[in-house]
Amino acid sequence: MRIEQDLKLGFKDVLFRPKRSTLKSRSQVELTRDFTFKHSGRQWSGVPIIAANMDSVGSFEMAASLSKHNVMTAIHKHYTVEDWAGFVKNNDASVLNNAMVSTGTSEADFQKTKDIMALTDDLIFICIDIANGYSEHLVEYVQKVRAEFPTKVISAGNVVTGDMVEELILAGADIVKVGIGPGSVCTTRVKTGVGYPQLSAIIECADAAHGLGGRIIGDGGCSCAGDVSKAFGGGADFVMLGGMLAGHEESNGEVIEKDGEMFMKFYGMSSESAMAKHSGGVAKYRAAEGKTVLLPFRGPVENTIQDIMGGIRSTCTYVGAAQLKELTKRATFIRVQEQENNVYGKE
Ligand code: 5GP
Repeated sequence: MRIEQDLKLGFKDVLFRPKRSTLKSRSQVELTRDFTFKHSGRQWSGVPIIAANMDSVGSFEMAASLSKHNVMTAIHKHYTVEDWAGFVKNNDASVLNNAMVSTGTSEADFQKTKDIMALTDDLIFICIDIANGYSEHLVEYVQKVRAEFPTKVISAGNVVTGDMVEELILAGADIVKVGIGPGSVCTTRVKTGVGYPQLSAIIECADAAHGLGGRIIGDGGCSCAGDVSKAFGGGADFVMLGGMLAGHEESNGEVIEKDGEMFMKFYGMSSESAMAKHSGGVAKYRAAEGKTVLLPFRGPVENTIQDIMGGIRSTCTYVGAAQLKELTKRATFIRVQEQENNVYGKE
């Protein structure tokens, strides 16, 4: 047994220190980033926020809406190939270039990914997603997907430490997805005692990835626009959001009326709800590692995404970053023991 004494931080442990700035208005801040990915050589330009591949967030409708802002959506893996065929027929490259095809690591997943990618050249992102990215099997699977799709952008995860980020990039991933346990409907830390504070995971994994020319997605744990900024400030190239984009018209969750008010169901992808829906219940050998919540129905996602982008722009003006790309260079985090003042309730 070993104890690491290094300090590890979550979003709630820090704030940005304001810095002098020549920016007059948040409208001067550019959130668009241009990436050329390491293995595929692909270029992508957009606002590097991604709706999570959860089945009450990452829907086709979400992709159509968010792509208007060049924001990405990782489409959940429960659509059939026929569903995808319908989606690619009605939507142009501006939507499809911003949609990620999610997959697990089974033989059937591999075949399904091949079938979906064969529908159109406009799909360029593959998101290989398993809860425990430390499995040797993931590395082999990334190599296999890279060999099959040399020119597609491959994301793989989830991991939280630099050693594994390096291994996945060397195996062929352009992007590594970072986060174990921080998610809003995740109970991994409670059920297993495993996890890593998300801001430190991002800082350490970004450092490892950037050294090799790879990119990372900070996945999970953002509860407000300020957290999204902190993830970018810590070095995340992309930030993935589940709960912040759930509960909207486009989230495609089940709507429930209770005492005249509308709610939408939102659940973790390893929750009992998800396993009941997609795998016929929780298998005997495992425990559910996600929960189910009812969120007040929030209408179209447009206002929320504008609000998030407005918050990030504002962060940039406070620290003097004219572009999102500069935010991490301009970021000095101060450790704090308080965040917002909740005297009149929570925002
Ligand atoms: P959020 O933005 O809601 O805090 O986090 C979203 C992320 O939580 C997802 O992208 C995914 O990585 C993670 N997640 C989703 N469902 C589950 C689950 O059932 N269990 C665990 N451990 N993580 C989940």
